[in-house]
Amino acid sequence: MKAFDYLKPSNLDALLNASGNIDQAQLGGDRFLAGGTTLIDLMKLQVEYPAKILDITGLPLDKIETTKEGGLKIGAMVRNSDLANHPFVKTQYAALSEAILQGASAQIRNRATTGGNLLQKTRCVYYRDEAFDCNKKKPGSGCPAIEGEHRNLAIMGTSDHCIATNPSDMNVALTALDSKIEIQSPQGTRTVAITEFYKVPGDTPHIETVLQPGEIITYVHVPPLPAGSHSQYLKLRDRASYEFALASAAVVVQMRGSKIQFIRVAMGGIGTKPWRAQEVESMLEGGDADRTAFEKAADKLLSQAKPLKENAFKVELAKRCLVHSLSTATALS
Ligand code: SF4
Repeated sequence: MKAFDYLKPSNLDALLNASGNIDQAQLGGDRFLAGGTTLIDLMKLQVEYPAKILDITGLPLDKIETTKEGGLKIGAMVRNSDLANHPFVKTQYAALSEAILQGASAQIRNRATTGGNLLQKTRCVYYRDEAFDCNKKKPGSGCPAIEGEHRNLAIMGTSDHCIATNPSDMNVALTALDSKIEIQSPQGTRTVAITEFYKVPGDTPHIETVLQPGEIITYVHVPPLPAGSHSQYLKLRDRASYEFALASAAVVVQMRGSKIQFIRVAMGGIGTKPWRAQEVESMLEGGDADRTAFEKAADKLLSQAKPLKENAFKVELAKRCLVHSLSTATALS
């Protein structure tokens, strides 16, 4: 690990005054330190090598608040375990609690934070190995995964420059829940819908989000769900714990009799970003909860997939994940 300067600003203003060189799109720039569950790993692997670390663990961003409208305001420093086990989250936003609890290990969930999870880095083996250059680490240097090991990588939103999967479970649930991300900088505060927060790789895979240099995530806002709705998260993976998704689905549904009154769907494990499935929603909303309709919607969504040799199995796996998830969610609502 390379030597670095360490600062622990005492408040948000002091932090923002010192954060000008933090650019999430550039390796080697300064970095915020929250739980450290991604950053420290990548520093040990020599993939990240910040000259300065700003420790944000002392900032007062560790509260989970319910809003007067019935939604949630989650501080960026809220630990994943605290969020997953919060009584209101467990009862009102089950998909979020389930998604977090199916990610990583208990020890990592106790350290990892909401803001850090939003910025979790890909598990692409070439990204994490300093022996390889790649477009995400060094723009223009190529993508060894396309001809190499890509079984776990993405089939949706890929480009000729990068096929890395967004590895987070939490981000998938937050996407289905229509969350918004509050961002602060010395210029002020802005709020971005999570569906607009992540960028597909295109020809700039090193730019993963809309975060600008010096900006920090401060809160995540989750709107209230329709009365009587049900949400859930289904994750398919190679082993039952401490493993990333091959395909996953977060579904929010409200039924009126046999009809689907309201539905939100996002998928994980298959996309270069948490994959909101708006085509599925518009095909199903207002219709009967019927397996044939679910299969048609899954076929339509996965018709956009661009699988490669090793990850072609994900197309069928993702369809089955989605159909099963829709079937159980509508039956339980
Ligand atoms: Fe790098 Fe993306 Fe290719 Fe992986 S898939 S080697 S992260 S460019």
